[in-house]
Amino acid sequence: MPPSWLHHCAETSRQLGRGLLHLLYPACCHFCGRSLTANGPFCDACRGAFVDDSSPACPRCAATVGPFAVIDGRCTHCREEAFGFDAAVRLGPYDGLLREAVLRLKNHSGEGMAELFGELWADHAEPAFRALGVDAVVPVPLHWRRRWQRGYNQSEAVAHGLAARLRLPCRPSWLRRTRATPMQTSQTFAGRRENVRGAFAASRPLAGRTVLLVDDVMTTGATASEAAHALRTAGTGRVVVAVLARAHGA
Ligand SMILES: [Zn+2]
Ligand SMILES: [Zn+2]
Repeated sequence: MPPSWLHHCAETSRQLGRGLLHLLYPACCHFCGRSLTANGPFCDACRGAFVDDSSPACPRCAATVGPFAVIDGRCTHCREEAFGFDAAVRLGPYDGLLREAVLRLKNHSGEGMAELFGELWADHAEPAFRALGVDAVVPVPLHWRRRWQRGYNQSEAVAHGLAARLRLPCRPSWLRRTRATPMQTSQTFAGRRENVRGAFAASRPLAGRTVLLVDDVMTTGATASEAAHALRTAGTGRVVVAVLARAHGA
C-alpha cells in the first residue's frame, strides 16, 4: 500500500499544479496556448477537435464501428471477448489532437490539464453520463511506485474532473494495484491479459452499486477488464468503463 503521506503529497501538488496553471496562463488555451476570446480552458478549435466524435462507437467496447456492425450489443472487435465490464464510453478515438493530448497527460506537466479534460467531457456528455445511473467514479489506479515516478495518476485527475462536474463521489481508494506490472505497451496484444491478471483488488464491499471506471486510453481492454473484475468480485453491480480515447487493438 502507498504510505498515506504520499497520497497527501500527490493531492496537494495536484491542487498546486492546477492553481499555478491558471496563474501562469490566465487567458490562453491550456492545450495550444492561443489567446482565448471566451471563458473556458480551451480555445474553440481545440475544444471542437477534442469532442468531435462523429463515428459511431460500440456500446460494449467503445471501438469505432461501421453501420450495422453491432449485433446483440457486440461489435466485431469484442464479439469473442469476455470483458469484466458491462459497457464502455469514450470521449473520442485515439487519433489526431485527442491522441496528442492523451500523450501529454502521461507527463507530470499535464496534470492540471487532465482534470480539465474530465470537466470538458462531463460538460459535453452530461445527459449520457446521467443515463448510466452511476453511484461513484473510480479511476484505474497506478501502482504506487509508478505513480511516484510519474508524479500523478492521469486517470485519477480525469476522474476528479468528471466527478466534480457530475456531482458524483470520486473514490480512488476503492481500487488498488496489488502488484506492479510491466507497461502494457511493452506487451504483445495476446500477452496483455496475462500481464495484468490479478493485479487489482477492490478495498471494500460495493454491493450492487454502479461504478464508472475511468482510464485515459483503452487498446485491448485487458487492463480495464481486470480492474472491473476486481470491482465485480467486491460486489459491484455494474461497471461502465469511461476512456478518454479508444485505440484500435481489439
Ligand atoms: Zn487551443
Ligand atoms: Zn465492441
